[in-house]
Formats: sequence, structure tokens, C-alpha cells
Amino acid sequence: MSLLDKFVHTNISQPYILVCSSKAQMLFSKELLDKESILNELIPTPKGFGGVCTTAIKFDKKFEKKVEDIVKENRISYQGIYSLEHKYKYDLTEIYEFKISDRFRKIVKKVEANIELQKEEVKFLLGINNKSEYKALIKMADIIRKECVGDRIELRAAIEFSNYCGKNCNYCGVRRDNSTHRYRMSEEEILQEVDKLYKIGIKTVILQSGEDPYYTTDMILSIVKEIKDRYKMGITLSIGERKEEEYKLFSEAGVNNYLLKIETANERLFNKIHPDDSYDDRVSHHGFIKNAGIRLGSGGMIGLPSQTMDEISEDIIFQRDFGVHMIGFGPFLPAKGTPYAEEKKGDLDLTLKVVAITRIICQHVFLPATTAIASLHPDGQTLALKAGANTIMLISTPQHLRENYQIYSKKNMVDLSFAIKSTEEAGRKLPKYLNYEYIKQLGYRIDDKLIN
Ligand code: SAM
Ligand code: SF4
Repeated sequence: MSLLDKFVHTNISQPYILVCSSKAQMLFSKELLDKESILNELIPTPKGFGGVCTTAIKFDKKFEKKVEDIVKENRISYQGIYSLEHKYKYDLTEIYEFKISDRFRKIVKKVEANIELQKEEVKFLLGINNKSEYKALIKMADIIRKECVGDRIELRAAIEFSNYCGKNCNYCGVRRDNSTHRYRMSEEEILQEVDKLYKIGIKTVILQSGEDPYYTTDMILSIVKEIKDRYKMGITLSIGERKEEEYKLFSEAGVNNYLLKIETANERLFNKIHPDDSYDDRVSHHGFIKNAGIRLGSGGMIGLPSQTMDEISEDIIFQRDFGVHMIGFGPFLPAKGTPYAEEKKGDLDLTLKVVAITRIICQHVFLPATTAIASLHPDGQTLALKAGANTIMLISTPQHLRENYQIYSKKNMVDLSFAIKSTEEAGRKLPKYLNYEYIKQLGYRIDDKLIN
């Protein structure tokens, strides 16, 4: 059995899902199914069966009765058991009004019927280079985005709390061997920043750093506990690879999401760009995070040196097949002082096509309009929102430190003003949950019509 097969069961030919009422019930059910040797995997709950970002347990029809008995016997609180034969159908009539080829038309029909696209079809969409088909592709992603996650932008905020890193990823500006001023924030400094985010109404904070063992498991748990106790906010960790046991502890402490990108799903390229990492380990970590009950954030870079269209197609399919909840695709951007400093940056249109295809095939997930795409082009974030993205990450690292977290050169320090501008230009809505009274006191001007 290949490592991927351990986590992705392509032999679930007639998929059913069990949707539980809470994360604890879902993890307990998974444990019971594993004990009974019922092949299963965790996936983002598809559109029509639960909220965006909930997790369902997928299994094969042949176990339907057995799963039902198990949940009943164990008094599991669950929403339902459903066949994925009756998946949500999309109305894509508008797309047929574009001038598109027969091959494209066939793909649109499959998407309408919610039939999984094959790699060759994904590759075809990626290779689109005439204006009319490009517009049709972006429009199709926009329709599916609207159906799945609505018009509201999800705003998250990242505190880049340490730029120390033990690894030497060839593309990254904070790699171990790059000379840059290094900093670490204390728990108190991190909490002060979280406090500012809480006041403006941000619901999820992203704690990001290099792979920095200075922050022990206990230190991370202590920060998580304080944030949960004081602010009850959602927490995303993005601190690199940790031990399987640590992911479980983070989950128990209330960590909601963990961002660890595959970067590229191609083993050859993965090994080329990561002198200290193993592809198999990265795939295993994806599985550990999911199985700990934490929602997985993955994604990758588009336009890496020597990356092919075939590999990019596989990257997108990997996200779908692995059941990733948050998928961040952004362009590769060269960083000063790294082995890739003189390489070509990723292409805007290709990255936008990747975002669009990801929405089309992964559907009910969070897709960020990444900081990298906002750094590549002044309109990059707006265009990504129009191509299927629905999430923006604010850079909320203290002003005097952020210049040292240059993972790539000329990084756009996306702030609230920039996010408001992108949202408005993309014709979308800001979330109701922000504290607008306070934000306006801070001097921001926001049209109330922009709030949903
Ligand atoms: N150390 C953690 C890790 O590697 O997961 C978190 C921090 S790392 C800087 C966050 C992300 O930055 C990576 O997943 C990678 O995709 C992105 N990144 C780093 N260098 C980049 C570059 N030159 N161009 C585009 N994205 C880059
Ligand atoms: Fe370190 Fe992450 Fe950058 Fe790799 S991508 S060098 S692990 S910060």
C-alpha cells in the first residue's frame, strides 16, 4: 500500500458520509469505525450536507447498516448518514453562453452533475489560453463559490511570531542560512497583538513561524490556552512539522486549524525544493493533522522552478483527494539571498486558473486570496476573489518586526484597508462579525452596504 493510499481510500466506490453533531462525536465515531476495520476517511462536509468547514466521515455503502448500528449502540449524536450519490447539483446555464469548445462543454456538464473531474480534464482547464474560455472558467468558479460559501469574505489575521527556522527550504526568505535579523515574540507580546485583533472582531487568529523548536509543546499549549480563555477565538497554527502526538495535544487544547502546505504534491519537485524534508513525511503529517481532528490547511506554490502543468494538475487533485479544508495556492515569488533568488516568479493568470479550478473541484472549502498573489500584482487579491477565493489573511505582526518576515521579497503587508479595498472591488461583502463601531473610531471609512 502506498503512503497516499493509507490516507486516501480511492476504493470507496459508493461513498456514504456520516455527519456528527460535534468534533468530539466525530472523532469518537472514527475511532469506533477504525476498531471495526471499516475503511473510512475524514473529508470536508460536501455542500448540502452541513456547514462549510465541518468534517464528515466517508465510508463505503457496504458498511451503511454497520455504521448506523455502531452510532446507535454508542449513542453518538449525529446529524445523519447520507449517500453521496445525491450530491448537490449546480446550475451552470450561464457558462454555455460563452464561446467554448466541445471538450470544455463536456466538462461543464460533468461539473453541473457534480461528477469528479479526472486529471486530464483538470489539465485541459489549466491549459486554457483563449479569452472566452478563460472568462468562462473564472465565471464557473465564481458561481460555485457563491453557491458554496456565499458573498461574505472570511477575514483572518496572522501573527508571524518568530522568524527563526531550523530548515533551509530553497525558496524561503527566512530559511536557516539566510542572513536576516531574527526575532521571537514572547507569550505576552503575542497576546497583546491578539487583543488588538479581538477588539476589531477578528474570529480566527493564525499563529505562524519558522520551524522554531524554542517554542516547546508546553509553550504553544500555554499560548493556545490563554487565547481560548481570554478571547474564545478560533486558532490556526502554522509552525511547520511537529510530532504526531503534539497535533493531538493541540487539538485537545482547542486548536481549530493547522496550516502545513504540501507546497507541491510531486515527489521529485518536493525533494528538489526541500533539502531537509521528506515527501512521505509531509504526506504523513497531513494525515496526522486530520486524524487529530484539526482542520487541515494545505496548498502550494505555482511557478516553482522546473514545475510542469502536469504537476500542477496533480497538486489540485491532491487537495481534493486528501480532503483538505483550506487550500492556499499562491505564486512562487523569489526571495533575496535564497538559492532561488534569480528564478522567475509565478504567473498571475496561471495562479488564477489554479484558484478557479480548485474551487470547481473542491467546492465547499475555504480558499484564500493569498498574500503572495497580492504581492505579485496590485489587483491580484481582487482577481483571486473573483476567481473563487473567499478568505483574506491580514498581516498582523507588530510593525517593527514584519519587515524581518520577508519569506519573499516585496511582500504586500495586507492590512485592513487593503482587504476592504479588495472586497469592495470584487463586489463582495465584509463579515458582520467585525466590530465596525470600533473600526470606524480607528479612522477606517466603510460603507455599511459592504457589510453582510
Ligand atoms: N514554517 C512554516 C511552514 O513552512 O509551514 C510556516 C511558515 S512558511 C513561511 C509559510 C508559507 O510561506 C509556506 O507554506 C510557503 O508556501 C510560503 N512561502 C515561503 N516562501 C515562499 C516564496 N518564496 N514564494 C511563495 N510562497 C512562499
Ligand atoms: Fe522554514 Fe517554513 Fe520557510 Fe521552510 S517554508 S524555511 S520551514 S519558514
